[in-house]
Amino acid sequence: MTERVFNFSAGPSTLPVPVLEQVQKELLNYNNTGMSIMEASHRGKAFEEIIYSAEALLKELMGIPENYRVLFLQGGASTQFDMVPLNFLTPGNVADYILTGSFAEKAYKEAKLIGDIHVAGSTKELNYTRIVKPEEIKFSENPAYVHITSNNTIFGTQWKWFPDTVDVPLVADMSSDILSYKFDVSKFALIYAGAQKNLGPAGVTVVIIRQDMLDKAPATLPSMFRYDLHAKNDSMYNTPTTFSVYVLRLVLEWVKAQGLDTVEKRNIEKAAYIYDAIDNSKGFYTGHAEKDSRSLMNVTFRLPNEDLEKAFVAEAAKEGLVTLKGHRSVGGIRASIYNAMPVEGCKALAQFMAEFQRRNS
Ligand SMILES: *Cc1c(COP(=O)(O)O)cnc(C)c1O
Repeated sequence: MTERVFNFSAGPSTLPVPVLEQVQKELLNYNNTGMSIMEASHRGKAFEEIIYSAEALLKELMGIPENYRVLFLQGGASTQFDMVPLNFLTPGNVADYILTGSFAEKAYKEAKLIGDIHVAGSTKELNYTRIVKPEEIKFSENPAYVHITSNNTIFGTQWKWFPDTVDVPLVADMSSDILSYKFDVSKFALIYAGAQKNLGPAGVTVVIIRQDMLDKAPATLPSMFRYDLHAKNDSMYNTPTTFSVYVLRLVLEWVKAQGLDTVEKRNIEKAAYIYDAIDNSKGFYTGHAEKDSRSLMNVTFRLPNEDLEKAFVAEAAKEGLVTLKGHRSVGGIRASIYNAMPVEGCKALAQFMAEFQRRNS
């Protein structure tokens, strides 16, 4: 490849070109420090400015209220599967989980190792083709918290509404749709997301936590798992993933320069190109997700047989449309079209889909 491809990878995933160019430009000498930001101390002025402004920028972009903190942690979203119950699920209590996909199941399985869990809703029986309906949710009597997965990266479904849990803390894994549209953060007690889908490179995990949730950890919980400790130390209790946080800050600036509203509109437009190609294919392409649960971030679909799916992935790659193979648990095709995927990439894919169909049906 001599040119950049359209990379539909589910994560790590494509990054905005202006961000990569900026990284390249200042890789050897960041902001006249005479060194790369990779080489700079996390206690130094250059990095402190980055991490504090990253918190402020994310708060501004997402409209995060004053009584929340933004933390930049490690261990991926998968470590949050453990940290959430370790901090909030004290003995004698129950936490409610709603299962809408593979990562929701993983979060649930981890939590079960730590405490008592009630499944408040699940679409597993339907092979996760949709999100639960409000009337299908049955909360336990007084759960410590309710956990949901806002976008199901592998199955390609997305919540279009959020359950009203009143005084019960609502926790969401938003790894694959954070900052892709505007929503009311104040409905949530905690939001977490691995950065490698919508926010930047792998390595840093963003946690948005309401202040009152910081007081809940049991005294015996070891340091690195404690939200309160990370918050008190402004995410610099130990060495943070400095380079990932630096790139994340550039991605946030890239979003700010366009406005989240513009990014959101573009995401709707992008997904429509591909869903229209599915819907206009007279059954050649079949979407995995039911229409009202369709994800704007991960579009999953099948072809008439696996041989055609293999040919589709191979021929698309020759045209610079890469990493379209679906996750092994669902099969078929998955196009991940996070914020940084340009409209042209989705247009090109839709066009390829129509041509491939013409040649093969
Ligand atoms: C990718 C993903 C994860 C796993 O993230 P890691 O950073 O690899 O631990 C968890 N949840 C969702 C919704 C994801 O998309």
